Amino acid sequence: MKFVSTRSGAAAVGLSEALRLGVAPDGGLFVPESFPRHDATAFGQDQPLERFAADWLRPFFAADSLAPELDAVCAEAFDFPVPLVPISDRLQVLELFHGPTGAFKDFGARFLMACFDRLAGKEPLTVLAATSGDTGGAVGCAAESRRSVRAVILYPKGRVSPFQEHQLTCWGSNVLGVEVDGDFDDCQALVKAAFADTRLRAAHRLTSANSINLGRLLPQVAYLAHAAFRAARSGGKAPGFIMPSGNLGHGYALLLARIMGAPVGPVVLATNANRTLADWRRTGRYEARPSVATLANAMDVGNPSNFERMVALPGELDVTVELVEDAAIEARIAEDSRRYGYTWCPHGAIASEAWHRLPEARRQERPWVAAATAHPYKFRETVEPLVGRAVEPSPALAAILGRPVRNEQVPAALPALADLLDRQLVGA
Ligand SMILES: *Cc1c(COP(=O)(O)O)cnc(C)c1O
Repeated sequence: MKFVSTRSGAAAVGLSEALRLGVAPDGGLFVPESFPRHDATAFGQDQPLERFAADWLRPFFAADSLAPELDAVCAEAFDFPVPLVPISDRLQVLELFHGPTGAFKDFGARFLMACFDRLAGKEPLTVLAATSGDTGGAVGCAAESRRSVRAVILYPKGRVSPFQEHQLTCWGSNVLGVEVDGDFDDCQALVKAAFADTRLRAAHRLTSANSINLGRLLPQVAYLAHAAFRAARSGGKAPGFIMPSGNLGHGYALLLARIMGAPVGPVVLATNANRTLADWRRTGRYEARPSVATLANAMDVGNPSNFERMVALPGELDVTVELVEDAAIEARIAEDSRRYGYTWCPHGAIASEAWHRLPEARRQERPWVAAATAHPYKFRETVEPLVGRAVEPSPALAAILGRPVRNEQVPAALPALADLLDRQLVGA
């Protein structure tokens, strides 16, 4: 299998190269050159996720040097549960937050690092990532103690929650949290500038781990396909999916899973007040906007990067979009706690709200799956007053709180970051 850029005729590359590069040389995103189709009857049996994932993803690894490693990569990346929890007659919650940092980003980060471990040469790669919250923690955790990678995670000073800061700065010596005197856009600009600097890029073997890297998307395709088969078995019909959406990693992964033969019914992309997708669905025109801050901050995206991948899929783009404002998020967290005894984080609450807004007949016609993308403890400042009680951390999150932290601070300027990287290289 080869991967091509969404933008132009850049030469097709194999999977290892696509993972290593992150972004195509022409600035586009890597997509599969063709779309493998599975015989769904071969996947209908109850299979553990790690085995299912390896079989589902095998065509993407064909003819690549990573192919013999796929089973081991999946065993490493999918070693925590992904329960489907029924909360009402027709609605099940796909809980994606049982990984070590309590967000679905753990799957992608662990899958990608497991691949890097197997493709890096003698010199370690440096994963440089800007984060506004979940990604950095998952990447730091997944990179810890690996010999093949160092991770340098940039986050904006004073703009992340205390727990988020803790989980960005508590990993081993090959992971460095860097507090940037600026906002998230400054952090992203710094990462871009570092990648554009030929010397830095080569000296540190820089690579990226944000959601445009295929290595983060592939595991999403696998667990969503697995969930579709499970929900279809329990409910007869192909389940509908409601995904809390930001950069559209899940949106793209679901459509890909469907094309590959998973029983995925209607797809609802649920967003916060960032209106780019809702406007696109309404008017047919895609217009990027500056992001606005909401309670579901991991979805504060005004220009979803994977949109480019979605429109490159074959066939009609068959999705609906539901926009949920902060007030409705709060009301839904309170209501579902009362009614079902279920505690959502603000992102998952958006999916539940979108489901409750579907006409009754549509809700009843098939099983529906809403994704819970983060553990509510990570957003307890928002959630606790709404549900009227303390939200307890999972054992994994509690363990993070017990770890010592360290960070570096830099101004939002490339020379300072370059200096830090060079010093770290010597120290590593
Ligand atoms: C990253 C993130 C999202 C957005 O996910 P996409 O798949 O990129 O749309 C939603 N919820 C949480 C908690 C996240 O961390």
